[in-house]
Amino acid sequence: MTRFEVLILGNSSATPMYGRHPTSQLLNFNEQLFLIDCGEGTQMQLFRYGIKGSRISHIFISHLHGDHYFGLIGLLSSQHLVGRQNELHLYGPPALKEILDLQFKHSDTRLRYPLVFHSTNEDHSEVIFENAHLSVRSFPLRHRIACTGFRFDEKKRSASLKKEEVERLNIPIPYLRFLKKGIDYVANDGTVYLAKNLTNPPPPPRSYGYCSDTVVNEDYFEEIRGVDLLYHEATFLHDRIERAKETFHTTSLEAAQVAQIVGARKLLLGHFSARYKDLQPLLDESRTIFPHTELSEEGKWFLV
Ligand SMILES: [Zn+2]
Repeated sequence: MTRFEVLILGNSSATPMYGRHPTSQLLNFNEQLFLIDCGEGTQMQLFRYGIKGSRISHIFISHLHGDHYFGLIGLLSSQHLVGRQNELHLYGPPALKEILDLQFKHSDTRLRYPLVFHSTNEDHSEVIFENAHLSVRSFPLRHRIACTGFRFDEKKRSASLKKEEVERLNIPIPYLRFLKKGIDYVANDGTVYLAKNLTNPPPPPRSYGYCSDTVVNEDYFEEIRGVDLLYHEATFLHDRIERAKETFHTTSLEAAQVAQIVGARKLLLGHFSARYKDLQPLLDESRTIFPHTELSEEGKWFLV
């Protein structure tokens, strides 16, 4: 089974508080590492959990509020100083490039490694990354400034061979890859060997939805339809719904409703307001509607 899991590096909104860090997550897909948001202190969190920055190949930034990217210049600079050479792909709002260019210009930094910038689009959803096993979409959320969520979809894998059967029947090796794709094998004597009898079907592809800062809005529901794991911000308890609306944020009750409406399998809450030292009430509130809720605790890995 391909590894597909998320490490929480930061779960705090706005400011670091009670030992909690601003938003950042590390996604491990089959040992390829993706960083999602990069709040202040992210590189220290990576050290703490034994993750080498040089292993991160792609960084996705949802929006330009400081609690989601103030750790970026530090991480990028350190990668330069430790002699990184491999490409780093960065996805975010167009103005992010301007900000970084200015910071590099005035520190007279010429990165030793290729930093490839890709603008995200605040108006429509689109595939922003794709390889043979995974695709990533960005999609608009509704926040005070332009903000996008991200969806990571594992691609459908081929079936696996029933090895003993295949060997027992002496199926020639060149045909094995066709069997895996569901194509039957016809031997020279006309005997038909059905692919479905010689293979195990692949497990269903998994998906991860990441909704950082947003007010609940049905425009993005389709984008996260049916995800296995949904991360949704839950800045406040529902008694602060007015405050949540004013600041374009979500309550834990609303996050649960979203998870239910889109048919997510599991829900992960995060982006907690500094007003909550104890997070249990946020969890309890969400579970009244969506029992499969967890708090995005820092240092914890969550399976997609
Ligand atoms: Zn935020």
